Amino acid sequence: MPFKAPVEDMLFVLNNLCDLDQISQMPGYEDAQPDMVEAILGEAAKFSQEVLAPLNKKGDQQGSTFAKGEVATPEGWREAYQQLVEMGWNSPKTGAEHGGMGLPSVVNASIQEMFTSANTSFMLAPLLTQGAIESIAGFASPQLQEVYLPKLVTGEWTGTMNLTEPQAGSDLAAITSKAVPQGDHYLISGQKIFITYGEHDMSENIIHLVLARLPNAPAGVKGISLFIVPKFMVNENGTLGDRNDVECISIEHKLGIHASPTCTMAYGTANGAIGYLVGEPHEGLKYMFTMMNAARLGVGLQGVGIAEHATQHAIDYAMERKQGQTPQGTAPSIMGHPDIRRMLGLMKSRTEAARVLAYRAAAAEDMAHKAMDAEQRAFFQRRLDLLIPVVKGWSTELCVDIASLGVQIHGGMGFIEETGAAQHFRDARITTIYEGTTGIQALDLVGRKIKRDQGAAAMELVHDMRETAQKASQRTDAHVDWSQVEHVAQSAAQAVEDVTRWLVQRNDHSPQAAAANVLELFGIALGAWAMADAAIAASDQLMIDKDNKFVRTKLKTVAFYNAQVYPKAAMLQQVIFDANDEVLNFNSNDFEVA
Ligand SMILES: Cc1cc2nc3c(=O)[nH]c(=O)nc-3n(C[C@H](O)[C@H](O)[C@H](O)COP(=O)(O)OP(=O)(O)OC[C@H]3O[C@@H](n4cnc5c(N)ncnc54)[C@H](O)[C@@H]3O)c2cc1C
Repeated sequence: MPFKAPVEDMLFVLNNLCDLDQISQMPGYEDAQPDMVEAILGEAAKFSQEVLAPLNKKGDQQGSTFAKGEVATPEGWREAYQQLVEMGWNSPKTGAEHGGMGLPSVVNASIQEMFTSANTSFMLAPLLTQGAIESIAGFASPQLQEVYLPKLVTGEWTGTMNLTEPQAGSDLAAITSKAVPQGDHYLISGQKIFITYGEHDMSENIIHLVLARLPNAPAGVKGISLFIVPKFMVNENGTLGDRNDVECISIEHKLGIHASPTCTMAYGTANGAIGYLVGEPHEGLKYMFTMMNAARLGVGLQGVGIAEHATQHAIDYAMERKQGQTPQGTAPSIMGHPDIRRMLGLMKSRTEAARVLAYRAAAAEDMAHKAMDAEQRAFFQRRLDLLIPVVKGWSTELCVDIASLGVQIHGGMGFIEETGAAQHFRDARITTIYEGTTGIQALDLVGRKIKRDQGAAAMELVHDMRETAQKASQRTDAHVDWSQVEHVAQSAAQAVEDVTRWLVQRNDHSPQAAAANVLELFGIALGAWAMADAAIAASDQLMIDKDNKFVRTKLKTVAFYNAQVYPKAAMLQQVIFDANDEVLNFNSNDFEVA
């Protein structure tokens, strides 16, 4: 089934719901005028449809393979990577001062979504390279930047992120990899597991960003430092030198993303891998966290992208498969069955709501970096920090459910690999785990993002949600049930406010117990806010162009979301308020099977 990048919806979201016109006025983003953005997305769509999507299934079937320390990517991967790099798609949001396109993060979000939607496994390499670029550009010395940044930006070299060790997954305080100072560098030793694209054959060098401890470093997260460890050393004239003491010793056999090599990396098994300290000693985790906003947004966009692709796949199948009778008579296809349209509605409406939320987080990142006024920059940084765990946690949990509905719509054929529906489901499953599991995102939302500032950032959001509800209440134009839109938008704002106040007041363990439900409630409520704004923008456009099919469908999608998705928020609110220590009173031995 051919993949089609949803450019029309992306442009609708960028232009109407993410203030692209305002962002393109900011210094450095002047090139991102709406007509230029439309042209860029058109080109990106072609690349995603013609180059990346056709390799998706082949990559799943062949997978990456490992032999004698080397990883071979599937057929066509190297050529596609070469094309990506030549067309400048490796790093669209890196500033022009470092050789990138300098696009706003919000435009980059659309490009990343369509690429990752077309081929999730492939796009993990550029995603991690972007993370490496951001840590080096943000925190490394000018000398290190000069050596490593240019080729990461062009994509001649790729980057990796090395956090996880066998005993240190969610709990990075348990990291034991060592870094011993020696002259102008450090000798790194230890083992890292699950390192995405830790070894591959698409670029001439791989730059590993590695967390390790200096001798006598304080215990816990305060004693972790960040190092650049290249696969090949770089000579003074920029050419590649000797192989460093780092190697891939195996790759994992996985449920999904088969083509993305997940590597076990051994550092310093001979003399110690040569590494260079990024920034200050013991500040590594702080640097990684800065870069994690980008990586978590990237994984949130994977959620949106996989959901979009799975939805397109299911729509196509539902149009063709003939089975059974509808209440009106013989169905031309299973699309005639209300239950199929219910499932497709759940897929489409939640994908579109999650897209708005992810792009709004990206727009907040742009404003946090470039707004003229310091107060505005601080406001948008708070907004970004609050949205990130919701985007990462909600979009990825959604994409697993949406891909599962996609399998269901295919019936038995969904369970058979040939149709491709199962691949979306398998590929989706990792997104709720890496870059911090949903449980960890939920704790971040509740603890760091809501309780720590006594709910201030969340209440700023409530204010904006109420503004949207107010706008909806003033609408009178036909073709939209404005009382429903206003009611849902008000109710969503109230739910976020009530839950925020409850969290701030609780001093026991109930916020942690409720955290995952809080995250889902925020996702659904902020999705309703996004949908109310979408209804207002769509209705405005319909008044100018009454035959516009896209906006007519958008209004139906909003109505579906409000009627079939939003009501879960009330149930979640009840569950949250009941999540006290007595309800979660299990001991480990209560789970023992007699
Ligand atoms: C395909 C793949 C690619 C990956 N790529 C990379 C990579 O490129 N670089 C890298 O460094 N790592 C990578 N990882 C590792 C990934 O980030 C970790 O798997 C993830 O952070 C979870 O850690 P863990 O597997 O040790 O699970 P654990 O931390 O053992 O978690 C197990 C369960 O316990 C829960 N849990 C843990 N701690 C808490 C807590 N404090 N409160 C509540 N619940 C908790 C978790 O939510 C989870 O449900 C990758 C993993 C995979 C599978």
